[in-house]
This record gives sequence, C-alpha cells and structure tokens, in this order.
Amino acid sequence: MILGLESSCDETAVALFSPSQGLAGEWIASQIATHAQHGGVVPDLAAREHLRNFGPLLQQAQAEVGFSAVTMVAVTHGPGLAPCLALGVAAAQALGRALHVPVAGVNHLRGHVWSAFLPVHAEAPGEFALRAAALLPHLGLIVSGGNTLLFVLNRERRLTVLAATRDDAAGEALDKGAKLLGLGYPGGPLIERTARSGRIDAFDFPRGIGAKRDLSFSFSGLKTSLRYRIEKMSPEEVAKDMPDLCASYQEAVVDALERKTGLALEQGGGAFRSLGLSGGVANNGRLRERLAELARRERVAFLPSRPEHTGDNAGMIAFAAWADPACLPSAGLQVVPGLALEGA
Ligand code: AMP
Ligand code: MG
Repeated sequence: MILGLESSCDETAVALFSPSQGLAGEWIASQIATHAQHGGVVPDLAAREHLRNFGPLLQQAQAEVGFSAVTMVAVTHGPGLAPCLALGVAAAQALGRALHVPVAGVNHLRGHVWSAFLPVHAEAPGEFALRAAALLPHLGLIVSGGNTLLFVLNRERRLTVLAATRDDAAGEALDKGAKLLGLGYPGGPLIERTARSGRIDAFDFPRGIGAKRDLSFSFSGLKTSLRYRIEKMSPEEVAKDMPDLCASYQEAVVDALERKTGLALEQGGGAFRSLGLSGGVANNGRLRERLAELARRERVAFLPSRPEHTGDNAGMIAFAAWADPACLPSAGLQVVPGLALEGA
C-alpha cells in the first residue's frame, strides 16, 4: 500500500491506496472555516493547522487500516505554500524512517491529473493498465483556485502542458467575483448556488477568448468588467439582480473553459480518447454539464474527478505516486513551492 500525505494549501489529508484494491481509507481535515474569516488562505495560519491536524489524522488511519502493508510514503512537495509543504514533507520523511520504506515527492498537479483516473481504477483495479491504455492519449483540464491548465497525457503516461492562464485562474476569477458581489469566501460554490435562480444571458460579460487558435486562458478582463458593471448599479439593484449577475458571470467562466477545451480537442485531430476534468472548480455542476456535453459531441470518454477528489486530497497523491512514471522515491526530497506541472 502507498501512504499519501497532502498539505500544500488549506487541507490536511492522509490516504492509503492499495494497487490491487483501491483506496483503503482517506482522512481529511479542512481549514475553510479558519480562513473564511480572513477572506482567503493565510499561509502561517494554514501551517499551524497542518501541524495540529497531521497527528490525529495519522492516528485515525493507523487505527482504522494500519500501516503494516505500507511499502512507500508519497507526499506533495510542490507547488503550494512553503511552510505547509514543509510540514508534510517532514512528516513523510519521519514516517518513511519509522516504517523503513522509501518516500516519493509528488507534484500536486500530477495528483489532480490522476484524480480523473481514480474512478477507472476503482471500477476494476486489476484491469487498470488495460483500461487506462484505451483512454490515452488523454486531454485534461485542471481548474482550481491557483491553476487553469490544459495538458496532454500521452500513451506512455508522459505529460505535456498545452496551455495555462495568462492572468487569474478560473477559481480565482470566481472567488474575486464573489468578493466584488459581497458573497464571501470561497466564492465558487456561493456563485454556483446563487446562480441557480438566475439567467445566464441577463448580463453580457467578456469571454477572454483572445486569438482564434490560442489555447491560453484569461480571466482578468472578466473580473474588471463585473466591477465596472456593478459600479453603475445601486446596492438595491445589485441585490435584486444577484442571481442574474452570478449566472451570467459563472457562464462566462464556464464558456471560456469549454471553448478552449473544445479547441484543444479539435487541434488534436481526433487523437484524444478521453477528456478529464479536475481541481476545485470541477465541482461546479454547470461546468461538468458543459464538458460532458462536449465529450459526447466529440466522442471521447468523459473522466470527471469524483466530487471528493476535486479539491485537495491525499487519495490522488497516493494514486499518482503509483500511476505516474515521473513520481519516483527520492532520498533527498526537497520542498519546491513553485514546482511546474512538467517538473518532477
Ligand atoms: P482548489 O484550489 O483545488 O483547492 O479549489 C478551490 C477553488 O475551487 C476555489 O477557487 C473555489 O471557489 C472553487 N470551487 C469550489 N467549489 C466550486 C463550485 N461548486 N463551483 C465553482 N468553483 C468552485
Ligand atoms: Mg489543488
């Protein structure tokens, strides 16, 4: 079994993954309530919470499943908040020593990449190699609070980044939009909930599409356009139109994501066999719906992460350590806060 640890941002998580049986257990402590009071994640506060949470989570994992079958520890070593990553890596190294097993550093983004394949493994662990091979090459979209990325996973399970955002990440656009609207933090789920009773075409927000063949994303213009829009409205009008503002704003984000993903599929010339969707924003029902529709139209399998694996979690870290050929144990593990997806 692989023991996975995750502490790159505001979730402390532990998981045990068995290649022959799947996830044997996952334990997670969220800090959302702590950071909500500050309107965003405070790194030092987050590190303090990780320090407080790792012990009890590991204790629970040991009591409920046990560590006797563990053959490797996998830990997120970047990208993320330096003091938070350091706590996870220190805990992993101590566990590696105590259990006499090697420790692998896992790129957090590779965790998100592979989270889309966790349901494929869960369905038939013994057939994973065969089933995964039939789903490659894979086009994936990672949408989170810090990243918006389109990547390719080729037949050899090697990763290439196709496009990223030129400014804000999709989640950041939703969080900043929610802040402008006075909805609170994190904004994505609040915008989604408020948007349910609104019209997607009530307001005309820019899509940040850029040049026709350009795959990169841009969301800063959208946020600015929302600011200008509500500056021209009275507080009463904003309150009355809140569902319409949310629905139209969310649609602009989702539309940009869907159109660029569609363009990437088209540029692949029919080579892609599956389309993945992961990261915190992948929780969004409208985005899941639009990408499922796109996948159907383009005749590729749709692989959205399960809701419990869209946000940060240790299950995807343990799984990536097993599934991704780039994740190898290392004696001199370093914390790399700015690690890129194509980095180790
Ligand atoms: P992550 O960075 O992967 O931890 O994901 C956090 C981001 O996901 C934040 O920007 C949230 O606003 C966003 N998010 C979470 N749930 C939803 C949702 N249902 N709809 C849109 N965005 C969401
Ligand atoms: Mg993440």
